[in-house]
Amino acid sequence: MVPDETRSFFAASATLGTVEPYPGQHVAMPDPALVVLIGPSGSGKSTWAAARYLPREIVSSDELRGIVGSGPHDLDASDDAFSLLDQIVGARSGRGLTTIIDTLGLDPARRSVYLGQARKARLPAVAVVFDTDAVACRERNRARDRPVPAAVLNAQLRKMREVVAELAAEGWDLVVQAEGGAQPVRVHQQSPESARSQEPAQARSEPGRLDFILHISRFAWGEDPAGWLKAMAAAAANAGFRGIALMDHLIQIPQVDRAWEPIPEPLVTLGMLAGLESGLRLGTLVTPVTFRAPGVLAKAMATLDVLSGGRAFCGMGAGWWDREHAAFGLSFPSARDRLDNLETAIETVRALWLPGTKAYRGERVQLPETTCYPRPLSPIPIIVGGSGERRTLQIVARLADGCNLPADIDVLDAKLAVLREHCAKVSRDMTDIEITVLDIPVIGRNREHTAQIVERLRGRVSAAAFARRHHAGLAADHVTRYRQLAERGVGTVFVALPDLAGPEDLARLAPVIAAVS
Ligand code: GDP
Ligand code: MG
Repeated sequence: MVPDETRSFFAASATLGTVEPYPGQHVAMPDPALVVLIGPSGSGKSTWAAARYLPREIVSSDELRGIVGSGPHDLDASDDAFSLLDQIVGARSGRGLTTIIDTLGLDPARRSVYLGQARKARLPAVAVVFDTDAVACRERNRARDRPVPAAVLNAQLRKMREVVAELAAEGWDLVVQAEGGAQPVRVHQQSPESARSQEPAQARSEPGRLDFILHISRFAWGEDPAGWLKAMAAAAANAGFRGIALMDHLIQIPQVDRAWEPIPEPLVTLGMLAGLESGLRLGTLVTPVTFRAPGVLAKAMATLDVLSGGRAFCGMGAGWWDREHAAFGLSFPSARDRLDNLETAIETVRALWLPGTKAYRGERVQLPETTCYPRPLSPIPIIVGGSGERRTLQIVARLADGCNLPADIDVLDAKLAVLREHCAKVSRDMTDIEITVLDIPVIGRNREHTAQIVERLRGRVSAAAFARRHHAGLAADHVTRYRQLAERGVGTVFVALPDLAGPEDLARLAPVIAAVS
């Protein structure tokens, strides 16, 4: 069996008809996808599928014959079996769920039905070709309880020779070869665009490096809040995280959990974490300027920096949730005013962190003196959260040390393009800005575990949409994705596990962090 963790594949050499395979090229299988297995009896299709996918993801004509007929070899039941198969494939792929079609796959007419189903569901259509040696197929066939007649197998083997040429003309997004039923290599790929996005990171010579900061937004600390937090910090450091960021909200937000779940005041909580010898950077992601007067925030962050030995960072944003402001008696100005206040707040905290006590006369802020002790040990980085293109990213370009953007690659690309424009307008060198993203990944120990997390947390969102939003996958899938982020100039990933319950959950991130940081 191939271990669950490796869903990128490698084959040292392979040939298939006249098609030149790309020796040594890894193939990352798209997921979700509609995957059609193609090969004669005994070529290893069912074995290959069972090693990689969940039983419910594999739709097998043999098994359906066994359900509607007298057994897997009841050829009289074929029509019923295939009509059921079409229905199952249509239903699953219509929900965006990965489906493996385990049939001979040798009939172009049937393949065209599957291709149509993939297109309709907007899923990548993948053909996996099993070009297993004819002698091996015959041997394995003879060893079976109910071998396929020799003439039938010979006809399948003959058909196999035409398959590759046929596939090239059919419009598959990806055709891979499963050599010996084990290790696919790329045969061809339809669209250069998706080829780029699926090109695995291992093939690159100099992958970018990333820092990871654990973002804690849910606090399932049971009866022992302080013990839970200490254990989280230890586990985070162990897993390779460089810091901890706490969410700054007064009521637990609906995106994360129920309103009555605990959400501690972050600066107090960071103060406790500062007392641990974890070496972790500490800060908020992000503090709304509506919560605390900027000068008081400057005082608190400077204190955190001193108590932690210079490990503080300061996330700041305009705030967005009216409900928590009303509940706590805070005013909640218009978006325009809150963004103005964000600019003022950045200027204020910076003024109070400068050395000396002299009066400050800035663009938006005037202070009669800047007597704020203790001073931070070194300038505290200000990371502005939010990706509003007109104002927030412009504030980033002018005033911030870092930004915090969505981790979704397409969205990120768009936001970075806008930020680049803002930087150009104010002659800011964009490489001076620390690009960070907030990522909320589902990371399963294996395929079944991944599916369980998605099913447990998806609420009313469809499993496919939830999985897509949270990039549900195994550690290796996330490594590939994080390397793509690094290539775009991202320096730090804030990671919030949506299923975070306790310290033990962080172990799943250790191999990812080790591979990319
Ligand atoms: P299918 O008819 O294409 O679905 O083939 P199966 O997956 O049922 O495999 C046929 C037989 O070949 C089974 O007895 C498998 O155990 C065996 N088999 C499948 N893949 C391999 C392989 O990579 N190496 C070896 N030695 N045997 C394999
Ligand atoms: Mg089979």
